[in-house]
Amino acid sequence: MTTERDPRRRLGVVGWPVAHSRSPAIQNAALAAAGLAGWRYQLLPVAPELFDETVPALPAAGFAGVNVTIPHKQAALALAGTASPQARAIGAANTLVFGAAGEIAADNTDAPALIASLPFAPGGRTALVLGAGGSARAAVWALLDAGAAEVSVWNRTAARARALAAELGATVAQRPRPADLLVNCTAVGLDGSDPFDRLPVSPGDLGRYGCVVDLVYTGAGTVLIQRAREQGLPAVDGSELLIGQGALSFEIFTGVTASRDAMRAAVARSTI
Ligand code: NAP
Repeated sequence: MTTERDPRRRLGVVGWPVAHSRSPAIQNAALAAAGLAGWRYQLLPVAPELFDETVPALPAAGFAGVNVTIPHKQAALALAGTASPQARAIGAANTLVFGAAGEIAADNTDAPALIASLPFAPGGRTALVLGAGGSARAAVWALLDAGAAEVSVWNRTAARARALAAELGATVAQRPRPADLLVNCTAVGLDGSDPFDRLPVSPGDLGRYGCVVDLVYTGAGTVLIQRAREQGLPAVDGSELLIGQGALSFEIFTGVTASRDAMRAAVARSTI
């Protein structure tokens, strides 16, 4: 966090590609709502081979911190001098905060944002997580850390599901089974297409889950979320997770409470 004497007021999101990111829209809306004049949040397209030399240069260029997205979340953790216990346990960071002397501290706000977005506390509940990439790691860790009774993992590449499950203490789902939560952490549906030809569940299976969560976000809402809502199931859209993780990062960067309403309005405006 910067102080009165510290002139660093720049923030951004580092990714490759990153042009599609709605983080500048939501973060600049929250900065305006908080009256943080002089702060601004921008896209920072950085290729993987330049990540390690570009990020340490950002504090001297006026940056107080950055969000980190695909494909840099593991590299971000490796680069940081210190990290929160959750970032270490997940093995990935989405938030880097720069100290006045250029020190880098890593955190992961994807995990607490998932838990905060759920319509019920996951303690004692069961979950099926689809995917075994970076966001699946955060989801599995977050659910188990919050006391879920069982988290099972399905992935297109089964070996990755086995490795993730063994490392984090989940089970492997060869076939999808009923659960309190279905959490889609694959990239399927990102292009607005029907996801059911690539996921192990059909629209008719959705009633076997107490709540459907899709990390993917698209303008009109993903087909997975649309089908869940048509059946009257509680559903958490990826844009809610985007806002949740962004609000927590904002609070780490600025020390000021983020207006989730301002962020939500910015998402709605950016998807018209
Ligand atoms: P990642 O590390 O690249 O993992 C991608 C996952 O998707 C892998 O499990 C991969 O399976 C699976 N996958 C990709 N194409 C597939 C296909 N055609 N059929 C079946 N499975 C497929 O990505 P990530 O960081 O976990 O992100 C996953 C998604 O979550 C992205 O769409 C991202 O935008 C979204 N996300 C949203 C938020 C938010 O705030 N809302 C936060 C983080 C991520 P294989 O292992 O078989 O390749």
